[in-house]
Amino acid sequence: MKPIKVPRKPRKCPKCGKTTVVKILYGMPTEESLQLAEDGKLVIGGCCITEKNPDWACTNCKVEYIKVK
Ligand SMILES: [Zn+2]
Repeated sequence: MKPIKVPRKPRKCPKCGKTTVVKILYGMPTEESLQLAEDGKLVIGGCCITEKNPDWACTNCKVEYIKVK
């Protein structure tokens, strides 16, 4: 699925309307970030970083968002 372009982090997911949009963390996750991911407050994005990596994701409907100016 292609990420949706947004100027900033959406407070509510435009697709499902829930406030479950969280930051995607790239690189090696720490113990703290793994805990946050378990709580649904963070998404672990893996360590493959490209220019087109999305910035946020909705943990409810799995839609991803990418920041654009
Ligand atoms: Zn959603």
